[in-house]
Amino acid sequence: MKSTLRISRTGRSPPKMKSELSTAGIDGDTQIDSASQPRVNSVLPVLTRGVRRTATATLTWLARVNCLLSSRKLIVLVAHYCDRDKPTALDTESIRTNLTYLRESCTVLPLHEALNRLARGKPLPRRAVSLVIDDAALPFYRVAWPLLKECDGLPFSLAVIPGLIRSDSSDHLISRVMYGMTSLRDRPSRKELLDRANSWLGIEDREEEPTLEALFLSLQRLSRDALGELVQYLDVPNEDFMTWEQLTELRSTGSVHLVSHSMSHPRFRYVEGDWLDWEVRRSKEILENQLGEDVQTFVFPYGSPKGVTTPVRESLKRNGYHFAFLTTPGLVTVDKDRFLLPRVDAEVPEAQFRRNTNTLRLSFSERRPAPTIPNPISASLGPLGP
Ligand SMILES: [Zn+2]
Repeated sequence: MKSTLRISRTGRSPPKMKSELSTAGIDGDTQIDSASQPRVNSVLPVLTRGVRRTATATLTWLARVNCLLSSRKLIVLVAHYCDRDKPTALDTESIRTNLTYLRESCTVLPLHEALNRLARGKPLPRRAVSLVIDDAALPFYRVAWPLLKECDGLPFSLAVIPGLIRSDSSDHLISRVMYGMTSLRDRPSRKELLDRANSWLGIEDREEEPTLEALFLSLQRLSRDALGELVQYLDVPNEDFMTWEQLTELRSTGSVHLVSHSMSHPRFRYVEGDWLDWEVRRSKEILENQLGEDVQTFVFPYGSPKGVTTPVRESLKRNGYHFAFLTTPGLVTVDKDRFLLPRVDAEVPEAQFRRNTNTLRLSFSERRPAPTIPNPISASLGPLGP
C-alpha cells in the first residue's frame, strides 16, 4: 500500500529494480510496459487479496443460505425445572405457556431421531426442536412433568445422573462422596477425607493433598460400610433426584428417552484418568442395564466447553458415545463438532422463548464454527439407535 501511495503522489515510477525486470523477462508471454510495472506489482496483490476475500465471503453466505434452505438444522432446548428458589425460575403458568407454544409452533422430535437424521444427511422438518431436561430432579417430576403430560406425548430426553439415583450399590455411594467433594460448599479438604478413607484401609497418612482422582481410587477399595460412613460424614443430600421407579413411569409413556449426565456430576475440566473413564463408562453401563438399549448421547454437567479436553473426547469415543452436549447457545448442524453440541435455554419468559425457538434468528446470531472441526456430526459412525 505504501508504494502505491508514493507512485500517485509523484506521478512517476520509481527506478526499476533489476529483479523486477528479469522476472518480466522470464514470464515473457505478457508484454508489460516497463514504466507501469511497479504499479502493477504493487496493485496486483491488493486486488488478489480483495478477490479472495470477496470469494470467501460469498461462499460463506452461500453455505449459510444452503443451510437455511436445506433445513438441516436443529434447535436443542435445555431446561432443568429444578431450582424453584431461584429468582428467575418460571412459575407453573409460564412453563405451561412455553410448552404449549412449543407444541403448536415447532416440530418437536425425539433427540436421537433428529440427530440420526442429521448424521445421515436427511432434511429435518421446519423449526425442528428437541428438548433435553437435565438432572432428572424431583422438582421437575413434581412441577414440569405433569405439564409435559398435558402436551399429548411431547417427546423429550432426560439427562440422568445414574450414580446419584438412590441405590445400595458401591457405585452410588462413591458417586455421592465425589459429588459431595466437588459440589458441597462446606466440605472437608481432600486430605482429610483421604485420611478417613485410609484409616478403613489401614494405610498410613500421607503428607500431601491428594488429587480428586487419587481420592476416587481410594474410595474404590472401600467396603460399602466405609463408604456409607463417608457419605454420612459429608452429609451429602440424596432426596433431590428421581427414583428408578419414577424414571420407569416416565419411560412407559414412550415419549421419554434417557441420556447420560455422568455418575457424580463433576466439572469435567478437573476429571482425569480412571475417574474420568468411570464417569463416562459406568454411567452408560448402568443406564443401558436399566433400559436394555444403547445410550449414545452424553450431556456435560455445567455445560462448559472447557471440560471437553482431549482425554475426555477419547473417553467418549472409546465408550461408544456419538454425541455430547454443552449449554453454549447455537444451532445443531452437520458441520458442528459432535462432542461440542450447543443447546438453547428453554427456561426463559415467553417472548425470549419464542426467540430461542426461531431457527432463522439463531442462524444469524450465532458465531461461525471454528474452521477445523475435529469430529463433525456427519462423521458419527454406524447405525444410530435411540
Ligand atoms: Zn446437570
